[in-house]
Amino acid sequence: MNILLKKSLLIMNKKVDIIIDGNKYQSETGRNLVDVAKDFGIVIPTLCYFKEIHPTLGTCRICTVKINGRHTTGCTATVQEGMEVEINTPELLDNRAAIVEMLYAEGNHFCPSCEKSGDCELQNHAYNMGLTVTRYPHAFTHKAVDFTPHRMIMESNRCILCKRCVEEIKTKDGKSVFSFVKRGVQTRIQIDYKEESKLSDEEALHAMEICPVGAILVKGIANEKPFGERKYDFLNQQVQTKLKHEQIKLKDGEKFVVGTTSLAGCFGCHMSLLDIDTDLLDMVEIVEFNKSPLTDIKNFSKRCHIGLIEGGCANSENVHVLRKFRENCDILVSFGECAIMGGIPAMRNFVPLQECLEESYLNGHTSELGADIIPHSEDIPKLLDKVYPCNEVVDIDYYIPGCPPNAQHIWKVVKSILLGEEIPISYNEFKYD
Ligand code: SF4
Ligand code: SF4
Repeated sequence: MNILLKKSLLIMNKKVDIIIDGNKYQSETGRNLVDVAKDFGIVIPTLCYFKEIHPTLGTCRICTVKINGRHTTGCTATVQEGMEVEINTPELLDNRAAIVEMLYAEGNHFCPSCEKSGDCELQNHAYNMGLTVTRYPHAFTHKAVDFTPHRMIMESNRCILCKRCVEEIKTKDGKSVFSFVKRGVQTRIQIDYKEESKLSDEEALHAMEICPVGAILVKGIANEKPFGERKYDFLNQQVQTKLKHEQIKLKDGEKFVVGTTSLAGCFGCHMSLLDIDTDLLDMVEIVEFNKSPLTDIKNFSKRCHIGLIEGGCANSENVHVLRKFRENCDILVSFGECAIMGGIPAMRNFVPLQECLEESYLNGHTSELGADIIPHSEDIPKLLDKVYPCNEVVDIDYYIPGCPPNAQHIWKVVKSILLGEEIPISYNEFKYD
C-alpha cells in the first residue's frame, strides 16, 4: 500500500466529535452524514439518496440541513472535524415539509388510485410529517404516460426527477436505459426502448423498486403486492397533528352545531360518516346537524361550529355553496380526497374543458347518434375551467384525508376538534390508501 493511500485511509477513519442538534456524537471522518445520523437514531428524510449511487445525487433537497450555519444537503455531506449540524429545527422541518408539498403540487399524486401507494417514499414522508394538504396550488400536469416500452410504463406525472433510475439502471453492456429530456418544468424521464428491451425481468423490477414514487411501473406486476404487505403498511408511530383554534364554549344544554355538504364528490364521504355505527348514538348526544343532506335542511338556520365539506369545486354552484359555508361556520373541515385536492373529478383537469364536453355529449360511446348539442342554460351551473380543491377557493382549517376517510377516523377527528382535544392519530389510521 503506498504512503499516500495509507495516509488518506487514516484521515478517513479518524474519530472526531461532531454536534448534531446541540448533542455531541463521535464518528469517523468521511462517512455520509445521513448514514451517521441514522446510526444515532436521527432520521434525515431522503428521496434521491440511494447508497449504491456514487457520488450521491443531492437532487431532491429534502435532506437539507445546516452545517456550521449554512444550508446544505445532508446526503452530499461527509463527517468533518468541528462539524455542527442542525437537522430538526422548526425552520428546517418547515423547509422539508414545503419541499414535499411542492412535489405533491407539481405532479399528479392521486394516492388512493396509485399502484405505489403504501410502498411510496414520498407518501411515507408526507404521512410522517402529518401533511394532509399542500400549501401550493396544484399544477395538474399533463405529461404523456408512456406505455410503449417492452416491460415498463412511465408515468411522468408522478416522477420527482430524483435521477435514481438514470444513474442506477444500465444494461449489461453499460448502456443507459433512462435519461432526462426537455428542460425546466417540461423536464421528464425518457426510456430508451431498445435498451429497455435488453433488461431482464429482475432488472426491470429493480427499476420499479428503486423509483421512490410510482413513476416506473412494470406491466402486469405493479399491482401485485396486496395492501397489508406493503413497505409502510404497519409503521408503529404517531403522526403530529395540532389544534389551530380556541376551545368552543357551549351554554348549558347547548349542542355543537354541524353543517355538511357534498360539492363535486360522490357522497362516499357522507356514507362513510354514517358508517360509525353505534358511535352515532355518541354523536347525537353532543351534536345537532343544521344545513346538511343528512337533515335535508337547505339553508343555514343558525351559525355552525363546524362545517364538513366533501368534494371540490367543479362549477359555479359549488363555489357559491362553499363560500356560504365559510360565512356560516366557525371552523371548516375538508374531508375526503376530492375536497382536499380535487380527487377523481380533477382528472378532467388534464384535458381542455371543451374537449371534455364534446367527449361527454357529442363523441362519447354513450352519446346519442347525431347528437349536436352541449347543454347550456342560465339554470345550469357554469362549469369551471378545472376542478379546484376547496382550500384554493376559501380558507380551510382542517383536513381529513381518505377516499373515503375511515368512518371512525372522521368522528375521532371531528370530536377532537369540537371538544378542543389534541388529535391522537397513529400512522396506520392516518394512512389513506
Ligand atoms: S403513492 Fe406516491 S407516487 Fe403514488 S400518487 Fe401517492 S405520492 Fe404519488
Ligand atoms: S422515474 Fe422515478 S427514479 Fe426515475 S427520476 Fe423519476 S422519480 Fe426518480
